[in-house]
Amino acid sequence: MAQTLGTSVGAFRAAFTGRVITPEDPEYDKARSVFNGAIDRHPAIIARCTTPDEVAVAVKFGTDQDLEISVRGGGHNFAGFAVCEGGLMIDLSEMRQVTVDAAARRAVAGGGATWHDVDAATQVHGLAVTGGFISRTGIGGLTLGGGIGHLTAQAGLSCDNLVSAQVVTADSRILTASANENPDLFWAIRGGGGNFGVVTSFAYRLHQVGPLVNLGLFFWGVGKGSAALRFSRDFLKTLPQNASGFIGGLSAPPAPFVPRQHHFAPGFALIVVGYGSPEEHGWAIKPIRDAVAPLFELVTPMPYVQLQQMFDEANPWGTLAYEKALYLDELTDGAIQVFTEYLPKKTSPLSLVPVFFLGDGYARVPDDETAFGGSRKARYAFNISAVCPDPALYDGERSWVRSFWQALRPHASGVGSYVNFMSEYEEDRVKAAYGTAKYERLARIKAQYDPDNVFHLNANIKPAL
Ligand SMILES: Cc1cc2nc3c(=O)[nH]c(=O)nc-3n(C[C@H](O)[C@H](O)[C@H](O)COP(=O)(O)OP(=O)(O)OC[C@H]3O[C@@H](n4cnc5c(N)ncnc54)[C@H](O)[C@@H]3O)c2cc1C
Repeated sequence: MAQTLGTSVGAFRAAFTGRVITPEDPEYDKARSVFNGAIDRHPAIIARCTTPDEVAVAVKFGTDQDLEISVRGGGHNFAGFAVCEGGLMIDLSEMRQVTVDAAARRAVAGGGATWHDVDAATQVHGLAVTGGFISRTGIGGLTLGGGIGHLTAQAGLSCDNLVSAQVVTADSRILTASANENPDLFWAIRGGGGNFGVVTSFAYRLHQVGPLVNLGLFFWGVGKGSAALRFSRDFLKTLPQNASGFIGGLSAPPAPFVPRQHHFAPGFALIVVGYGSPEEHGWAIKPIRDAVAPLFELVTPMPYVQLQQMFDEANPWGTLAYEKALYLDELTDGAIQVFTEYLPKKTSPLSLVPVFFLGDGYARVPDDETAFGGSRKARYAFNISAVCPDPALYDGERSWVRSFWQALRPHASGVGSYVNFMSEYEEDRVKAAYGTAKYERLARIKAQYDPDNVFHLNANIKPAL
């Protein structure tokens, strides 16, 4: 078998114009690494693609050789789906070009681009699309699963802003997916993950943002947690149209704006971003200090690109990581009680609990318009995330995530969760994430585009029989 594969790899090298990386190559370990350092898989071949044609050649080789195929976008999936054991890893990390048509407010980005790439190119024109909170995250996995970010309250999810995509399917065809071309595929890739093919480019609708925005970050210690969270849940609903916000359970960073005695103290933050003038922002955040006096705050204008990179350092590549999430219709007193009880029990300073307020931009998109699994009625995505640069803390921190999540479940909006905030993808959890009707529709589209389930390293939709 090894010899057979060895011979075929030679043929693949001859046919494939991109770079082929195998275990003998010096960059192999770097190329197979993903964000989550708990993942240690060894693909037989890494095909580093630079064009859709190369992706098509790689898919054909993988399917002809009956190799397991993984697709790497930004490598941030918690379960490490970007990398397979013993198979073919289709690596899009060099397909990161971004072109912007400012007049039409459109950007087209390569399937392996990160939000760092997209923000850099679009912000030159004072434009942006909803992206993730960490700039190194891939646009690929994030958009295909939904995409929650600072701009969600105004502009919806990343996938809500997708206007078309180029997709290499399991039978190596290169298709366009849009409202007019292959509309079923277009519906499925807006929330249905990487199940339907390799997306080689994403075309987004852009919005006017920045380039300067206004940050307001307020932090309370655990003692004032309950009062701060009750205030924050009401306050977030009153934010003007040109502002967004979210809540974070986290440890105070050792940053210059944090008094030394509070470094690493666990507590609760309210982060508000204003997209209008500093004066408007000042008015919007004024009630916060008056309501519950924070331990410290940071109120400052900053470039939108800097905002997008603000939490990068707290999420280092190669850290051990695990997370579980759920949706809440309301941040009820009961949910706040669980939050304040469990947050101080975390042991890794970088573990965090971001609670994203989804807002009107999210809620105004009809449920059936995209394949996105979450109910458009939910107001919060509650994410419990273990981030452990110190491996000794990993097992304990994983148990903390699980027990916190169990305690919060009675307060959640049903059993569904966001597919991009999962570390384990049992079939029943994926089904619950989409609900029966959406899952069955996705399964029928999967049967049409990938009947043999070639693309199964994802929140997997089983092809309908
Ligand atoms: C530190 C961190 C911060 C995060 N922040 C946010 C956030 O703010 N908002 C949010 O919504 N989510 C966030 N996430 C979750 C994130 O959306 C998912 O982890 C997502 O899967 C990452 O996409 P990726 O391309 O980087 O990952 P990868 O691991 O490369 O891919 C993830 C999945 O998508 C598939 N895939 C990736 N690219 C393509 C493509 N071009 N074509 C077909 N399939 C593809 C892969 O095969 C895999 O199944 C975060 C995750 C981490 C680790």
